[in-house]
Amino acid sequence: MERDTYIFKVIVVGDASVGKTSLTLRYTQDYFSENYIVTIGVNFLKKTIQMDNMDIVLDIWDTGGQERFAYIRASYFKGAAGAIICYDITNKKSFDDLPKWLNEVDKYCETVPMVLVGTKKDLEDQRQVSVEEGKAFAEAYGMKFFETSAKTGENVEEMFNTLAKMMVESYL
Ligand code: GDP
Ligand code: MG
Repeated sequence: MERDTYIFKVIVVGDASVGKTSLTLRYTQDYFSENYIVTIGVNFLKKTIQMDNMDIVLDIWDTGGQERFAYIRASYFKGAAGAIICYDITNKKSFDDLPKWLNEVDKYCETVPMVLVGTKKDLEDQRQVSVEEGKAFAEAYGMKFFETSAKTGENVEEMFNTLAKMMVESYL
């Protein structure tokens, strides 16, 4: 049987050090490091998911969150089919900054499927943002919500698979 292949550009956004690169590396390479991996500009990674009779290629663009890369970000947002909006559950500021990121997505992208991700779920003892706060924010903006850990891998596949399904449903 013939299989069709679809490629979706996915962007990962959120404050510096929330764990965007870690999330992407866990998902695509099953890799994790405790060390900070400096993302200069952008990092491209791909992963293919089999869905029904389709191959869904996620073309994941992991952007540097640093302000000085703002000029680059605009072009990276362009043409995205889906967005992963990240905050760190151990960093309240990264949660408070979410509207800023949603604004950027809104400014540069069409309306795209989005998921809200609270990262570093394994660091429960350092939690600054409750599950309820995350959920409520996601609901208010019509996003699906996950808490993930790039360290243990918890919910990482589920989150990417859910976004892939949302994109298939909205574009195909
Ligand atoms: P980015 O700037 O958003 O790309 O963040 P990084 O992926 O570079 O992660 C920043 C730091 O947080 C690194 O030291 C990572 O090891 C750590 N980190 C990322 N995700 C997790 C996680 O799920 N659990 C734990 N414990 N640490 C994490
Ligand atoms: Mg990074």
